[in-house]
Amino acid sequence: MIPPSSIKLSKHEALLQRLSEHHPPLYPMIYERYRRFDSGQTGEANLEYYLHQTQLTDLQLLNGLRIEKQYPFQIDWLVLGLGFRILLEVKNITGTIYFDPHSRQLIREKDDTKNIFPDPLFQVERQYVHLRNFLLSQNIKQLPTYTAAVFVNRNAELQLHDYPERHRIMIAQAIPSFIEKLASNHYAEISCSQNQQIASFLTNQHKEAFFPILEKYEIAWEDIIKGVRCPHCQQYAMKRDRMRWQCPLCGVRSANAHLQTLFELALLTENRITNKLAREFLQVASQDLIKKILNRSPLICIGKTKGAYYKHIDLIDYL
Ligand SMILES: [Zn+2]
Repeated sequence: MIPPSSIKLSKHEALLQRLSEHHPPLYPMIYERYRRFDSGQTGEANLEYYLHQTQLTDLQLLNGLRIEKQYPFQIDWLVLGLGFRILLEVKNITGTIYFDPHSRQLIREKDDTKNIFPDPLFQVERQYVHLRNFLLSQNIKQLPTYTAAVFVNRNAELQLHDYPERHRIMIAQAIPSFIEKLASNHYAEISCSQNQQIASFLTNQHKEAFFPILEKYEIAWEDIIKGVRCPHCQQYAMKRDRMRWQCPLCGVRSANAHLQTLFELALLTENRITNKLAREFLQVASQDLIKKILNRSPLICIGKTKGAYYKHIDLIDYL
């Protein structure tokens, strides 16, 4: 199963695979976005390592939880203990970072340039308000809850001298002792199994943001590279031939080269694959043949009439 936080990344990956590098200025712009998501995810994975370093066995850790009741909100990391909870906002920026206690702005200096960001504690405090309201609406027991911002990039130098909230801003390495200290100050108010239930309830409530990637970047379907990619020579040239895919360029035959293609199509269409889209994308002319291929793939058919479409089962929980 795909972790939800990586779906947006996978959508960008699929788009970059299917967009000509000579599509200026979109290709470089989308590539840059992708690179940023990718490094964001590396940063969060880096933090995960430190979260698991705590000497506590009863914590539940949720990454990228996004709830879409009343107001959508997303939490980078939610730590659920038996007597306390923590919301963490992850920042993966480099350079010298200092906080202005008066304006509550974060100022980053790097290579002689200055960037200003909102105080990450503001962001995570807003998320806490939304989470608290959501838990209240679901009759889930409230526990003392803390918020903090974590800088995960080793090339960030934090200068926090005058910042009154500096104990809530830290580097990833400081996370285990931060959590252990909170744990030692709070008695368990719920049981381990109650905590597990809350974690799985919240996971089930997760809803991925609607992000139809082609529309968002205003990319025409005609500009998307079609075809089944050859697993050997990587060209989008495979042709259907006697129940297999055959590459006319290198001669390789494959039974399942279309599976990756269908997964990419699902990512590009918010998981809504029609017979017509599949025919165009796989470059198969026959409506009946594509129907056979779709029915034998890991897809679920929704509806029976003209408006029928397919959903990829690996994405069905999210899209
Ligand atoms: Zn080939």
